[in-house]
Amino acid sequence: MTLEYITMREMENSKGEVKGRIRIMKTKEETSAMVDITCPECGYNEKRREEWREPFVTGLKMKQAFFLKCSKCAYSVKMLKLKKEAAKKAKAAKK
Ligand SMILES: [Zn+2]
Repeated sequence: MTLEYITMREMENSKGEVKGRIRIMKTKEETSAMVDITCPECGYNEKRREEWREPFVTGLKMKQAFFLKCSKCAYSVKMLKLKKEAAKKAKAAKK
């Protein structure tokens, strides 16, 4: 199993408060990514598989973004992928 992509980010709700978090993990052997999401809006936690699409990894250079919807309250979570920040967060999560 080879890890291809992993990130953990804090998520803001509609009021701008950091309440949720999202973790995405993808191995080279898989065609889908494992998503562990805590909705910042309603606090609902779920683990699910998301199909690995191009916007996940490519997109515009500094604004790689994708959207995930909470399956409980349908709050739309937008995540911008920033390489530096993702690395920093991953380090902090290990402590
Ligand atoms: Zn929700």
